[in-house]
Amino acid sequence: MLPPGRPRRAFVVRACTALLVAGFAQAQQPRPRVPVLQAARETDVFTPAPFDEQHLDGLFAARLRVNLEQRLLRVDEEGILAGFRSRPGRQAWIGEHAGKFLDAAANMWLYTGDDRLRELMDRVAKTLIACQQPGGYLGTYTEDRRWTSWDVWVHKYDLLGLIAYYRATGYRPALDAAARIGDLMCRTFGTARGQLDIIGAGEHVGMAATSILEPMVLLYQQTGEQRYLDFCLYIVHAWDEPGGPGIIASLSAGKGVFHTANGKAYEMMSNLVGLSRLYRVTGNPLYLQTIESAWRDIQSRRLYVSGTTSAHEHFQDDIVLPADQDADVGEGCATVTWLQLNSQLLRLTGEPRYAAEIERTVYNQLLAAQDPVNGNICYFTPLNGRKEATPGINCCVSSEPRGISLIPELAWGTENGGLAVNLYTQGEARFSIPGAKVQIVSRTTYPQSGIVQLSVNPDKPVRFPLLLRVPDWTRSFEVEVDGRKLTGLPGTYLSVERTWKAGDEVAIRMDMTIRLIPGGRSYPDSVAVARGPQLLAFEETLNRSIVDTQRAGPVSLRPEDLNLRDAGNGQTDSRTGNQAYRINGQVNGAPQPLVLVPFADARVYRVWMARPGRT
Ligand SMILES: [Zn+2]
Repeated sequence: MLPPGRPRRAFVVRACTALLVAGFAQAQQPRPRVPVLQAARETDVFTPAPFDEQHLDGLFAARLRVNLEQRLLRVDEEGILAGFRSRPGRQAWIGEHAGKFLDAAANMWLYTGDDRLRELMDRVAKTLIACQQPGGYLGTYTEDRRWTSWDVWVHKYDLLGLIAYYRATGYRPALDAAARIGDLMCRTFGTARGQLDIIGAGEHVGMAATSILEPMVLLYQQTGEQRYLDFCLYIVHAWDEPGGPGIIASLSAGKGVFHTANGKAYEMMSNLVGLSRLYRVTGNPLYLQTIESAWRDIQSRRLYVSGTTSAHEHFQDDIVLPADQDADVGEGCATVTWLQLNSQLLRLTGEPRYAAEIERTVYNQLLAAQDPVNGNICYFTPLNGRKEATPGINCCVSSEPRGISLIPELAWGTENGGLAVNLYTQGEARFSIPGAKVQIVSRTTYPQSGIVQLSVNPDKPVRFPLLLRVPDWTRSFEVEVDGRKLTGLPGTYLSVERTWKAGDEVAIRMDMTIRLIPGGRSYPDSVAVARGPQLLAFEETLNRSIVDTQRAGPVSLRPEDLNLRDAGNGQTDSRTGNQAYRINGQVNGAPQPLVLVPFADARVYRVWMARPGRT
């Protein structure tokens, strides 16, 4: 039985907006709100604005549209389902892609209401469900190889996809299929006689298998069935048994992710995302302590300036951050999972440091891994080198669209009885706060400009705090409301609490501060340039007169000496976006103007440029 559908609320869309969003307002079918039975403990501090209550323009809109049109609508439907139709699949983890597609598609459909996507995801979901065996098995392995290698991992993504699809559409057979997988897991793995040890059922010290934790928590929340929660607690226990990855024992003791299990980044962070969901339903402080300890370790010792982690798919030793083409930098799956982890922590704590990392990752590594024109995806994205984006079927081509589909959930939401703006963007959203509904319209060309004009429109006058995130990179954040001037402290929220009435205006002026970032232990002779939230890169295709590209860099270590100015007009082509900047630079010590573009738009490039005065 379908839960009651709820027609999409009409937005007041101005003419200029309508042009920008052509193709994005094709909602035909209602998008139901499926209730979560076993609700979160209501402890979330930050709750994102729902997908279907908002609309983003500008850079995010462009990248979301490419994600929809060029990637999700062109998914190799046969390829992602063939392994289920005819077992065994042609490779070990071929089964992960159907669930990943459904997860990304569910978000994008909730956001756009696009009928073509709805049709496609309906077909994929129904085919997947039809391939389930009577006992609940929905992998791509033959009987003799069952529960080896990546089999549980495949079921993890089946669950994530089916639950996301159910949450988006209310199609009950999807939840029933997920429950049959959950029951199969509960029967198969455990400590009772005849049950298997889940640690032995997956790659990377069992972490591939135990990362099924995340959707098992979701299944528990959706059904309220205690056995699924018990299974989650079994997984957490199994981690710290002999032969297990020791996720809680090692990370809560501060050993760090490099010294935990085999340091495989994607799988370990997937387990931490699951643990953050388990914390939400149990409130066990040890879980949050473990996650925060791992987060601090990654953020302070293993995070690239672009907001990703891992080289050759593994965490590296302290401050070892190789960034060239051959280092296999920032697996797309690791980037997206880092983003998910920060999103969970932001919800659980409301702390701006997580929103700051979200901004760093979204504006840099996440969008850098997506080709802005054809929607292809980079498996790895170096900081020095060239983008090698591809279509096809691999883990990252399936993960990145999930990360991009999350952007609307990361931008803004409700927090502490008020509204929080975490990512500045052109767009609008509606929020429900105690006693009122509030529409926010944001006008800006951010990240080109740091000027943001917010219109606040409650349906009746109401008092609440408007929390404006003050980026940690800005040296000045000024706000004017009704003639009153306020100044924000970098790295915090500026709370503007007052009685708001329709038509109130908030003028934000933040300095898009230019920074020179030292190359650290891995690039001691190099320096990077950042402007606002964006990391800039020396783009070879826009500096063709320079042969000795490795010797090119800024003229000075003092930002004001760079005289960074806009060079967007005529400098760029469709592949490098509409942002470009000229700086005073040098090549081998000789003055030479250089053109930089955002790392997210770069094609053949160097983020780490020659440090002035290096010998
Ligand atoms: Zn991957």
